[in-house]
Amino acid sequence: MIEERAELYGAPTPQALADETYENYKEFVNPPLARVMKLAGSPVEVRAQGCTIWDHTGKAYLDFAGGYGVFTLGYAHPRVVAAVSAQLERFALSGKTMFNVLLGRAARRLAELAPGDLQISFWCNSGTEAIEGAIKLARAATGRAKVVGTHGAFHGKTFGALSVSGRENFQAPFRPLLADSSCVPYGTTDALDDALRDAAAFVVEPVQGEGGVHVPADGYLRDVRAICDRTGALFIADEIQTGLGRCGYRFACNRDDAVPDVMTLAKGLSGGVVPVGAFIARPGVWKRAFGRDPLLHTSTFGGNELACAAALAALDVLEDEGLAQRARARGEQLLRGARAVAAEYPAVVRDARGLGLLVGVELTNEGYGGSIIPEMLKRGVTAAWALGAQRVIRLEPPLIVTESEVERALEALRAGVAAAHAKLGDL
Ligand code: PLP
Repeated sequence: MIEERAELYGAPTPQALADETYENYKEFVNPPLARVMKLAGSPVEVRAQGCTIWDHTGKAYLDFAGGYGVFTLGYAHPRVVAAVSAQLERFALSGKTMFNVLLGRAARRLAELAPGDLQISFWCNSGTEAIEGAIKLARAATGRAKVVGTHGAFHGKTFGALSVSGRENFQAPFRPLLADSSCVPYGTTDALDDALRDAAAFVVEPVQGEGGVHVPADGYLRDVRAICDRTGALFIADEIQTGLGRCGYRFACNRDDAVPDVMTLAKGLSGGVVPVGAFIARPGVWKRAFGRDPLLHTSTFGGNELACAAALAALDVLEDEGLAQRARARGEQLLRGARAVAAEYPAVVRDARGLGLLVGVELTNEGYGGSIIPEMLKRGVTAAWALGAQRVIRLEPPLIVTESEVERALEALRAGVAAAHAKLGDL
């Protein structure tokens, strides 16, 4: 079976496939990344279905990295694959000079599901593009320039998104960034009135994911809404990681009953089958920004038929399978288990926190992750660091994960932490 997979990629053996891929990464993709992945013992992924991925040797892994939040429905959900295949049979990408049925339907469906009066959406191809579009909309709608983000946030790596991402190491080599951008502390509104007084927008994640899984107190987003109303700054909720069931709500903003002016989405929006991004805005705000020039913000591939077919099917699956509710139940189980591991090994684990199936395990020393994640991998469970906080291991499996799969992942985590604990003296 695995030999066949290697053959599918035109390689004589699984090992030849792995060697070829490493060499290509080293020479043509990203040499330092190739080294880091090789050191971490990263295999080659050849197949994925549901919550499981298989490497080139045939070993199966329970995926608790979840494509950093992409695979809310698991890999290759049959309803999404069928919808995309059917569209591929019709045609893949349109000529763009005529109306696109599926874009119309996907935008309507998103508006039906989105909080409050969020209505008009622009579809693009990634999270960072959605943030760029939302920032442009805010500037055009308000006539103001300043955009404010939060310390530790991650919104993407294009210039606008990077400018509000509050991560010095990703920003430094590219300065100057967007003029008039700044960051305030996350999870508190103490400095917000002042910061937003003459701002176009405040960009904020309902739960900071890449920053290390920080869950603000109840009411934070309601307070943000009130301050944006007072100051005239637009409230942009970045739901790229937290939305579409991930945090146990259809959108994490719903936890506070807060309706933003603009909401950005990507990752799970097309069920992990086709790349996609989108931002959706209140109609008044949208019209103020783009109402007079329909071509002010465009994308060649944005809103393409394959992505929209995937998104329509994915949104149906999200609702029909009650995935937000499932995320809440499984998330409670995962967090309870992670907290038990933290209580057992306080010298290694400082804290476990999260909302729904976005859980972070904060270690007492950044170095421990380097032994915990490989140990989990050895035991057939993937996990990932938070991009902006290497001290935090992030667990975000597909929302279809079962009770016994969560238990298996927790056993692997416990084993990884125990191994790090045993090595304490060496560090
Ligand atoms: N916003 C948030 C909250 C994210 O977590 C990410 C990616 O991890 C992005 C934006 C950027 O998305 P993309 O990598 O698709 O550009």
